[in-house]
Amino acid sequence: MTQLIDGKAIAAAVGEQVRAQVAALAAAGVTPRLAVVIATADDGAAWYVRSINRAAARLGVGCAVHELAPDAREQTITSLLASLAEDDQVHGIVCQTPLPAGVRIERVAQQIPPAKDVDGANPQSLGMLAAGLPDAYPPATAAAVVEILAQAGTALEGRRAVVVGRSTVVGKPVALLLLARNATLTICHSRTEDLASVCREGDVLVAAAGKPALIGAGHVRPGAVVIDVGISASADGSLVGDVDTQAVTGIAAAITPVPGGVGPVTTMLLMRQTAHAAGVLAGLTS
Ligand code: NAD
Repeated sequence: MTQLIDGKAIAAAVGEQVRAQVAALAAAGVTPRLAVVIATADDGAAWYVRSINRAAARLGVGCAVHELAPDAREQTITSLLASLAEDDQVHGIVCQTPLPAGVRIERVAQQIPPAKDVDGANPQSLGMLAAGLPDAYPPATAAAVVEILAQAGTALEGRRAVVVGRSTVVGKPVALLLLARNATLTICHSRTEDLASVCREGDVLVAAAGKPALIGAGHVRPGAVVIDVGISASADGSLVGDVDTQAVTGIAAAITPVPGGVGPVTTMLLMRQTAHAAGVLAGLTS
């Protein structure tokens, strides 16, 4: 029997925590405010930014979307991020990807100070995470993966975790967070030989490659917990993950669906990190 982990229910529970954070901030006269910079015509990015806006409105988090042209120059993006970094009314800053051709998130995000880097895009935040410093925010997606594992009651200490994908936005920070929880960790990527046998070592398997059906029955250890981060559009326009859910059903102990798994939790984690940043910047919490 494979349990389908309900990401929407976990997101709702995190949403309640955020509501309490926002109420405590409001009592101290603070409204958490998020600024989202977007410079793309990508449909997926536009959809994600709308979902951030809706979640913020529901929770009482201020959200301002700053739309730049899809061919905006690097200088335009860095200037906007630098001015948001200076703005005392802004507590969290997200620079949405994809960015215009030739503009790298790792470069422009250096304008976002770690205290406002609620989506962990500044390489400095990743470095702080690697060093085990508590004041850095991980990318919300990476935070969502460990939140789901915690809510599902998955033990990590001393257990084998395999992460498929090594990007700075998902794979590496997920790996660092799992390592911080004392998992024994393996990171796989596009050059990994015999991916299936490496994946089968995992008590926990996190798939973040963006390749539909990459993970099949032969990749999953019986009883493993599988977190599917991948999101790709299928031929009929529906969203699919990296895991062939049907094939691994009956093998995995639990799996997150796509959609309805990591996605909704990610949005709520962004809200939680923004509310936390507002509290820290206002000197109310540490
Ligand atoms: P990316 O393209 O930057 O990185 C993909 C990684 O997968 C790379 O490290 C690559 O080496 C690895 N990879 C590719 N093909 C592979 C293969 N055949 N075998 C093993 N490894 C392989 O992508 P990303 O930004 O890290 O995103 C990964 C996926 O997660 C995408 O589908 C993306 O849409 C999704 N995503 C979801 C959320 C969410 O909130 N649910 C957020 C961010 C990204």
